[in-house]
Amino acid sequence: MDMERMRKVATLLNYEIKDLNFKRLVDHVLQRIPDRYEEGFLSFSIYQRYSKWGAHVYDNNVYFDVKKLEEKSGGDEDVKIGFIAHELAHVFLNHTSSQNQGRLTLKHEDEADEFASMWGFAKEIKAFRQKIGPPAVEEEIDIIIYTLSRC
Ligand SMILES: [Zn+2]
Repeated sequence: MDMERMRKVATLLNYEIKDLNFKRLVDHVLQRIPDRYEEGFLSFSIYQRYSKWGAHVYDNNVYFDVKKLEEKSGGDEDVKIGFIAHELAHVFLNHTSSQNQGRLTLKHEDEADEFASMWGFAKEIKAFRQKIGPPAVEEEIDIIIYTLSRC
Protein backbone atom coordinates (compact mmCIF):
# COMPACT_ATOMS: atom_id res chain seq x y z
CA MET A 1 0.00 0.00 0.00
CA ASP A 2 1.07 3.57 -0.55
CA MET A 3 1.53 5.16 2.85
CA GLU A 4 1.47 8.72 1.57
CA ARG A 5 -1.90 8.08 -0.02
CA MET A 6 -3.17 6.32 3.08
CA ARG A 7 -2.33 9.30 5.18
CA LYS A 8 -3.88 11.68 2.66
CA VAL A 9 -7.20 9.85 2.53
CA ALA A 10 -7.04 9.50 6.31
CA THR A 11 -6.95 5.74 6.41
CA LEU A 12 -3.87 5.86 8.57
CA LEU A 13 -4.80 8.51 11.12
CA ASN A 14 -1.92 8.38 13.58
CA TYR A 15 1.32 6.56 13.08
CA GLU A 16 3.51 6.91 16.12
CA ILE A 17 6.34 4.44 16.34
CA LYS A 18 9.39 5.98 17.97
CA ASP A 19 11.73 3.02 17.52
CA LEU A 20 13.16 3.57 14.05
CA ASN A 21 14.17 -0.03 13.46
CA PHE A 22 10.72 -1.25 14.33
CA LYS A 23 9.10 1.51 12.29
CA ARG A 24 11.09 0.33 9.30
CA LEU A 25 9.48 -3.11 9.71
CA VAL A 26 5.97 -1.68 10.03
CA ASP A 27 6.59 0.44 6.92
CA HIS A 28 7.79 -2.67 5.14
CA VAL A 29 4.62 -4.60 6.04
CA LEU A 30 2.27 -1.74 5.09
CA GLN A 31 4.02 -1.32 1.75
CA ARG A 32 3.85 -5.02 0.97
CA ILE A 33 0.08 -5.25 1.49
CA PRO A 34 -1.33 -5.31 -2.05
CA ASP A 35 -2.86 -1.98 -3.14
CA ARG A 36 -6.22 -3.52 -3.85
CA TYR A 37 -6.80 -4.01 -0.12
CA GLU A 38 -6.19 -0.38 0.67
CA GLU A 39 -9.76 0.77 0.41
CA GLY A 40 -10.93 -2.14 2.53
CA PHE A 41 -9.25 -0.63 5.57
CA LEU A 42 -11.28 1.48 7.93
CA SER A 43 -9.37 4.35 9.47
CA PHE A 44 -6.87 3.11 12.00
CA SER A 45 -3.87 4.23 14.01
CA ILE A 46 -0.61 2.62 15.01
CA TYR A 47 1.04 3.36 18.34
CA GLN A 48 4.09 2.21 20.22
CA ARG A 49 2.95 1.43 23.73
CA TYR A 50 3.08 -1.12 26.51
CA SER A 51 1.18 -4.29 25.62
CA LYS A 52 1.11 -7.30 27.85
CA TRP A 53 0.91 -9.50 24.74
CA GLY A 54 3.52 -7.74 22.68
CA ALA A 55 0.81 -6.27 20.48
CA HIS A 56 -2.92 -5.88 20.48
CA VAL A 57 -5.74 -4.22 18.62
CA TYR A 58 -8.31 -2.10 20.36
CA ASP A 59 -10.87 0.18 18.72
CA ASN A 60 -9.03 0.20 15.40
CA ASN A 61 -5.81 1.15 17.13
CA VAL A 62 -2.86 -1.17 16.88
CA TYR A 63 -0.47 -1.10 19.81
CA PHE A 64 3.03 -2.50 19.47
CA ASP A 65 5.23 -3.07 22.48
CA VAL A 66 8.58 -2.96 20.73
CA LYS A 67 10.62 -4.23 23.67
CA LYS A 68 8.31 -7.16 24.32
CA LEU A 69 8.16 -8.04 20.63
CA GLU A 70 11.93 -8.03 20.53
CA GLU A 71 11.97 -10.54 23.39
CA LYS A 72 9.20 -12.70 21.97
CA SER A 73 10.72 -12.83 18.50
CA GLY A 74 14.26 -13.43 19.72
CA GLY A 75 15.20 -10.62 17.34
CA ASP A 76 14.07 -12.59 14.28
CA GLU A 77 12.80 -10.17 11.62
CA ASP A 78 10.51 -12.65 9.91
CA VAL A 79 8.80 -13.36 13.23
CA LYS A 80 8.33 -9.64 13.83
CA ILE A 81 7.01 -9.10 10.31
CA GLY A 82 4.57 -11.98 10.79
CA PHE A 83 3.43 -10.47 14.09
CA ILE A 84 2.86 -7.06 12.49
CA ALA A 85 1.02 -8.52 9.48
CA HIS A 86 -1.18 -10.57 11.83
CA GLU A 87 -2.20 -7.49 13.83
CA LEU A 88 -2.88 -5.47 10.67
CA ALA A 89 -5.06 -8.32 9.40
CA HIS A 90 -7.13 -8.01 12.60
CA VAL A 91 -7.62 -4.34 11.76
CA PHE A 92 -8.57 -5.05 8.17
CA LEU A 93 -11.02 -7.76 9.25
CA ASN A 94 -12.53 -5.33 11.74
CA HIS A 95 -11.75 -7.57 14.68
CA THR A 96 -12.29 -4.75 17.10
CA SER A 97 -13.82 -4.67 20.50
CA SER A 98 -16.95 -2.89 19.38
CA GLN A 99 -17.69 -5.44 16.70
CA ASN A 100 -16.96 -8.47 18.80
CA GLN A 101 -18.03 -7.20 22.17
CA GLY A 102 -14.55 -7.51 23.50
CA ARG A 103 -13.90 -11.01 22.33
CA LEU A 104 -11.30 -12.31 19.99
CA THR A 105 -11.72 -16.00 19.45
CA LEU A 106 -9.54 -18.70 17.96
CA LYS A 107 -11.56 -18.24 14.80
CA HIS A 108 -10.40 -14.63 14.61
CA GLU A 109 -6.84 -15.74 15.17
CA ASP A 110 -6.98 -18.20 12.29
CA GLU A 111 -8.70 -15.65 10.08
CA ALA A 112 -5.99 -13.09 10.75
CA ASP A 113 -3.25 -15.62 9.98
CA GLU A 114 -4.98 -16.71 6.79
CA PHE A 115 -5.55 -13.18 5.66
CA ALA A 116 -1.99 -12.10 6.31
CA SER A 117 -0.81 -15.16 4.39
CA MET A 118 -3.04 -14.16 1.50
CA TRP A 119 -1.42 -10.72 1.49
CA GLY A 120 1.86 -12.51 0.83
CA PHE A 121 3.18 -13.05 4.35
CA ALA A 122 2.81 -16.84 4.46
CA LYS A 123 6.49 -17.38 5.21
CA GLU A 124 6.52 -14.79 8.00
CA ILE A 125 3.25 -16.01 9.53
CA LYS A 126 4.74 -19.48 9.64
CA ALA A 127 7.87 -18.16 11.34
CA PHE A 128 5.71 -16.16 13.77
CA ARG A 129 3.62 -19.20 14.69
CA GLN A 130 6.66 -21.44 15.04
CA LYS A 131 8.20 -18.99 17.47
CA ILE A 132 5.12 -17.78 19.33
CA GLY A 133 3.11 -20.99 19.14
CA PRO A 134 -0.41 -21.67 17.89
CA PRO A 135 -3.08 -19.27 19.02
CA ALA A 136 -4.29 -20.07 22.49
CA VAL A 137 -7.54 -18.66 23.71
CA GLU A 138 -5.89 -16.91 26.60
CA GLU A 139 -3.11 -15.53 24.50
CA GLU A 140 -5.40 -13.31 22.55
CA ILE A 141 -8.20 -12.53 24.88
CA ASP A 142 -6.13 -9.43 24.87
CA ILE A 143 -9.07 -7.19 24.31
CA ILE A 144 -11.14 -8.46 27.23
CA ILE A 145 -8.30 -8.12 29.66
CA TYR A 146 -7.33 -4.79 28.24
CA THR A 147 -10.88 -3.55 28.63
CA LEU A 148 -11.05 -4.79 32.20
CA SER A 149 -7.75 -3.20 33.05
CA ARG A 150 -9.10 0.11 31.87
CA CYS A 151 -12.15 -0.08 34.12
ZN1 LIG B 1 -4.37 -12.06 16.98
